[in-house]
Amino acid sequence: MILVIGAGASGLMAARDLLASGREVLVLEAAPRIGGRIHTTRSGSTHAGGSKSSVEFPYSVEAGAEFVHGDLPLTFELLTAAGIKAIPTEGQFYRSNEGQWQKENIRVKGWDKVMERMASLDEDMAVADFLSAYFGGGENERLRWAVRRFAEGYDLADIHFASTKALYREWSRDEGTQYHVDGGYGKMIDWIASEIEGMGGKIVLSAPAVAVEWAPGIVRVVTSDGRIFQGTAALITVPLGVLQAGDAGVALPIADTNVEPHRSGGPVRNGLTFDPAIPEYIQAFHALGYGSVIKLLLHFSEPFWEKEAPGLGFLISDQNLPTWWTVSGKPNLLTGWFAGPRTIPYQGKPDPELIHLGLESLAKIFHVSIAELHDQLLTYRVDDWSQDPYSLGAYSYEKVGEKPFRQILHTPVENTIFFAGEALYEGEHTPGTVEAALATGRKAAETILAAWL
Ligand SMILES: Cc1cc2nc3c(=O)[nH]c(=O)nc-3n(C[C@H](O)[C@H](O)[C@H](O)COP(=O)(O)OP(=O)(O)OC[C@H]3O[C@@H](n4cnc5c(N)ncnc54)[C@H](O)[C@@H]3O)c2cc1C
Repeated sequence: MILVIGAGASGLMAARDLLASGREVLVLEAAPRIGGRIHTTRSGSTHAGGSKSSVEFPYSVEAGAEFVHGDLPLTFELLTAAGIKAIPTEGQFYRSNEGQWQKENIRVKGWDKVMERMASLDEDMAVADFLSAYFGGGENERLRWAVRRFAEGYDLADIHFASTKALYREWSRDEGTQYHVDGGYGKMIDWIASEIEGMGGKIVLSAPAVAVEWAPGIVRVVTSDGRIFQGTAALITVPLGVLQAGDAGVALPIADTNVEPHRSGGPVRNGLTFDPAIPEYIQAFHALGYGSVIKLLLHFSEPFWEKEAPGLGFLISDQNLPTWWTVSGKPNLLTGWFAGPRTIPYQGKPDPELIHLGLESLAKIFHVSIAELHDQLLTYRVDDWSQDPYSLGAYSYEKVGEKPFRQILHTPVENTIFFAGEALYEGEHTPGTVEAALATGRKAAETILAAWL
């Protein structure tokens, strides 16, 4: 029996591949749902009579992963097999800076020079060091600001640690068409789960693993409520945030697993311990970069943005909550994206404060009053991923010098403990994505099969 810890994209992909090769598999999932950082839902909130109450969006929304970044092989393999369509994103791009609108997605002046310099860099360095070495001085202030915003906003990276070479690889890649998954990424996840169950695999929900006790060829996984599951090997796919939290040697208290993590009211930690300890691996978890996101989903009574930004698809601004987009087929929905180290002061803040932050930015961009926006807001959802006890952040980024550490995580512990998940991805597509997670799941299944032939 192979135990898979975590029922996100990587764990489910691996479980499906292992079952298809005739292995027995049991998946343990901490949350009361599958999908992890994929969370398609209708569940939102509203301010009915001044106090918050639950309400549904008129369509499904993506609280976590949303875009398919190009014609990605594994994602499309699954979508095709499941008969799910990918819908190319639509709409006009806008940039709003200091009250000026710009429609073309033209980068700040000097961006090409930054890319050229990045390309010719011999030795890797942190982005902050790179900027001060090659683009210091007052005349480059705006350029430095733009690079930092992009690294933080898209890659969730802290520029004091982020690898310049890794960001160059990513930024110079043409992803091609961006898609939404028809009906949501959750449909793809449900389809993989149905495949797993169809092949006799089991998925146990509300089962947060807290301890992994092992000897070569045997693993006992203990859950927060004391249940013990035994197998010959364990594939650990929990998010990097959880792996980084679990090195204190003590299992951290776990949320009431019957409560949806986001709604559980405050930060609850989650972590894993290993017995015997695997200090080299723990050190490796900490060498990798992991950032966070606050995502706002706002359903308004009317598309107030159409007046200033007709046909709005995607908007980047200089406001506190800088990035916004619409989704075709989901009328009057605006999604706000606030990411990277700049979210730290806001992490764990109550929903109304974060909604206010969003509406304040929108009010400035579109020259309307916050009160008007409040009146037009019908349903909202705030997902502060740093506070999700089962993710403790959003996705990984590459730090300078982390490669050898990621290699350690690719090395099985005595052919008994294996790791997968988006943070372990090494490949030609964008890291920190669903595709990346699926790829590591597939690769881990191959490694396990090779080890256990
Ligand atoms: C806000 C947001 C937006 C994103 N947008 C995109 C996007 O547009 N496109 C894209 O491709 N990617 C996007 N991503 C990234 C993408 O969601 C992830 O890379 C991918 O889903 C990660 O899959 P995974 O299997 O590695 O991890 P996860 O999906 O996190 O799966 C790990 C599982 O482990 C479980 N777990 C945690 N602790 C325990 C424990 N102790 N015991 C048992 N189980 C445990 C978790 O509940 C989870 O289900 C986004 C992520 C976020 C947060």
